[in-house]
Amino acid sequence: MVYCARCGRKYPGDTKIWRCSCKGELEYQSQYTYSIPPPERLTLRPHSIWRYREALPHLEDEDIVSLGEGCTPIVTAKWKGFPVWFKLDFLCPTGSYKDRGSSVMISRLKQMGITSIVEDSSGNAGASVAAYAARAGMECRIFVASHTSPAKLAQIRAYGAKIKAVDGTRQDVAEACQRSVEEDPRGETLYASHNWNPFFLEGMKTLAYEIWEQCERSKIMPDWVVVPAGYGSCALGAYRGFRDLLNQGRLSHLPRLVIVQAENCAPIYQAYLHGETQVTPIRGGKTVAEGIACSSPVRGSQVLAAARESGGFIMAVSEEEIDSAAISLAREGLFVEPTSAVVAAALGRLIDSGTIAKNDVALGILTGIGLKTGYYYEGRS
Ligand SMILES: [Zn+2]
Repeated sequence: MVYCARCGRKYPGDTKIWRCSCKGELEYQSQYTYSIPPPERLTLRPHSIWRYREALPHLEDEDIVSLGEGCTPIVTAKWKGFPVWFKLDFLCPTGSYKDRGSSVMISRLKQMGITSIVEDSSGNAGASVAAYAARAGMECRIFVASHTSPAKLAQIRAYGAKIKAVDGTRQDVAEACQRSVEEDPRGETLYASHNWNPFFLEGMKTLAYEIWEQCERSKIMPDWVVVPAGYGSCALGAYRGFRDLLNQGRLSHLPRLVIVQAENCAPIYQAYLHGETQVTPIRGGKTVAEGIACSSPVRGSQVLAAARESGGFIMAVSEEEIDSAAISLAREGLFVEPTSAVVAAALGRLIDSGTIAKNDVALGILTGIGLKTGYYYEGRS
């Protein structure tokens, strides 16, 4: 079943609408109860997010569209003299963590018989959705901002998707895409939005399941989990996954979520700072963290609640901090796009301020590979 997070209205699970008639965002609720198996049983399973199949929407084997996403390593690094952990989620098949959500969303759409989709993206989600659409044999069109990184555009095209470039902000791109769906004369194209589609978020929960499974072996769980946020799918996926594990007695408490935005475009952080429970859209400025330059997050209120309920908080980092963190990560052998470096920038500040204490375990999620924004590093030595 699918229901509206704002007014509670219920819809059948295979509804083709992308938002409620009240304009609220849709959520998925499984009709099954499930329990996540213990790590010793999970080790026998496929090396992908589908090892947590009980916790994902029910699908027949032939409907699952997978490229082996997930199961990414956690490595340790010295950061400001502190040992920290980084989860290398940029090692997913298309170079970003978005593949977790795309695999579940596209599988679900395949099950529904959908053959044509459209999506808007700052680049990584578009590339990810295009890859899984190609794998499923779906027609795919991706709306992007005209200033999107050339390597991301090349990747989207290589998967066979059509690109529609829009002059304007990330929000302008989303609205142009939504208009195209509403004005589609055939009415056959589904808006497979990674920000609106509830099944995408279901896939993102596997981030938390994986962290738990990997850490359970050493019996050391992170005290802090640091994630970047534009629309907030990484934050919400992690929060919901950890909440699931807590409810099932697999965790004794939630790790504290630190949700990081870029100062130049930080509507969720602004709302947090003012003690709000809703996010007011802003006019965002330019940031090198292009993947999180979102001025009007669809599930902003849920992201605020996730930070607070986990005992964590929202923060924002400057362009200078992002730049310095990106270079320092590369010097550790971790080549990520500047968007991902916000996590390391936040870790640096939290270590400097003593917020992360000496014996705390902090884990940052690195979401996007550096190769797509290689121009950023040119001329650096
Ligand atoms: Zn509603």
